Amino acid sequence: MTTATLTLKDQFPGLAGGWHYLDTAATAQKPQAVIDATVNALGRDYATVHRGVYARSADMTLAFEAARQRTAAFVKGAEDEIVFTRGATEAINLVAQTWGVENLKAGDRVLLSTLEHHSNIVPWQMLGERTGVEIDVCPLTADGQIDLDAAERMLTPAHKLVALAHVSNVLGSVLDVRRAADLAHAVGARLLIDGCQAAPRIALDVQALDCDFYVFSAHKLYGPTGVGVLWARKDILDAMPPWHGGGAMIDRVTFEKTTYAPAPQRFEAGTPMIVEALGMAKAMDWLTEIGLDRAERHERELAAKLRDALGKRNDVTLFGPTDSVGIVSFALDGVHPHDLGTILDEEGVAIRAGHHCAQPLMDSLGVPATARASFGLYSDDSDIEALLKGIERTRRIFG
Ligand code: PMP
Repeated sequence: MTTATLTLKDQFPGLAGGWHYLDTAATAQKPQAVIDATVNALGRDYATVHRGVYARSADMTLAFEAARQRTAAFVKGAEDEIVFTRGATEAINLVAQTWGVENLKAGDRVLLSTLEHHSNIVPWQMLGERTGVEIDVCPLTADGQIDLDAAERMLTPAHKLVALAHVSNVLGSVLDVRRAADLAHAVGARLLIDGCQAAPRIALDVQALDCDFYVFSAHKLYGPTGVGVLWARKDILDAMPPWHGGGAMIDRVTFEKTTYAPAPQRFEAGTPMIVEALGMAKAMDWLTEIGLDRAERHERELAAKLRDALGKRNDVTLFGPTDSVGIVSFALDGVHPHDLGTILDEEGVAIRAGHHCAQPLMDSLGVPATARASFGLYSDDSDIEALLKGIERTRRIFG
C-alpha cells in the first residue's frame, strides 16, 4: 500500500461523521485498539500494581512492566532507563529539578533555541531563578530550522546542557539530533531532546541519536493523556537524586532515615498511571505495526502537498522549511488566525490558531499567532481539500 492510499479513519471513533481533524500536533485521536486496551485496563483487568498478593494485581504488575519494556523497545533504550511521567512537561521539569539542581550552578549555561515550546523554556528559567544558571538562545535559519552552525559558534565549556525540540510543534522542522549531540558533547554538555512531535512521526533510536535525555507524551502518539516518558542514560539516571517523595520510590523508610529505590522506580512516587501506561504501550504496538517509516513518509507527503497548494495562493504566508514533517503554519492575509479557525470549524475542519505555546517563536516570526494544520496517520487528501475549500470561503467572506 502506498502512503497515498493509507487511510485509517475507520479505526478512529473520534473522526466519525467526516470531521477533518487537523490538530494532531496538539493531541492525536485514538484508534479503537487503544480505546479497547484502556477500557480493559480500567475494567476487566483493573487492579493496582507492585503491592497485591492476589493474581489480578500480579497480572497487572506484569502488564505494567511489559509497558515499560514496550516503551524501551520503542525508543531502542533499556527498560531501566524508562521513567513514566505524566507527560513531556513533567519529564522536563523532573530533569530540571533533579539533574539540573544537582549538576548546575551559577555561571553555568543552558542552550535552548528560538522555536522551543514553553515546556522546554520555563523549567530552565525556573531552574535559573533557583541556581543562577543562565540561558542562551540559538537562532533559527531563515527557513525556520534550528541553526546548528550558530549553536557551534555559541557553545562554550560553560554550557552544561543543550535542550532542543526534535520536531518543531509550529513549523514541523526536523532537527539533526546527531549533529546537535556531537556539538553538545564536544563542550562537555548534555543533550536533552523534546521529542513530543517526533515520537509519532519518526522512528526513534536514542543510541543512534546519541542524546542524553529524550522526552515525549503519549497523547500525541495515539495514546492516552496523563502519561509520558523520560528516557535517560542509565548512568545519568542513577546519579540523579529523587524528586517527588512517597510510596513506591523508597527502599526503606524510618523516621531517622529513608533510603530510595534504584532508578527508574526512584522517580515514580505514588500509585502510577497504570491504565494510561497500558494504553500507551498499545499505541506503540499500533504505530509500530503500521511502521514509523510509513508514518514519516505519509506526514512529509501531506505537509508538502499542503505547502504546495497554499504556496500557489498569493494571499498566504507560509512559515517554516519546505521539508517539514506533518505540521504546516501559515497566515491568510487580512484574516486573524482565530477568525479563520472559526470559519473552518463551521466547515467541519479543525485547525489550531494561536501562539502554540511558543511565544518567543511568534516574536521572531513577527506575528502574534499563526494558523496551524497538523496531520496524523489518519489524515488524507480529503482533509487538505476541505481545508483549502474553507480557506476559499473565508477569503470570500473577508474579501
Ligand atoms: N513540546 C512540544 C514540542 C509540544 O508540542 C508539546 C505539546 N504541545 C509539549 C512539549 C508539551 O507536552 P505535554 O503538554 O503533553 O506535556
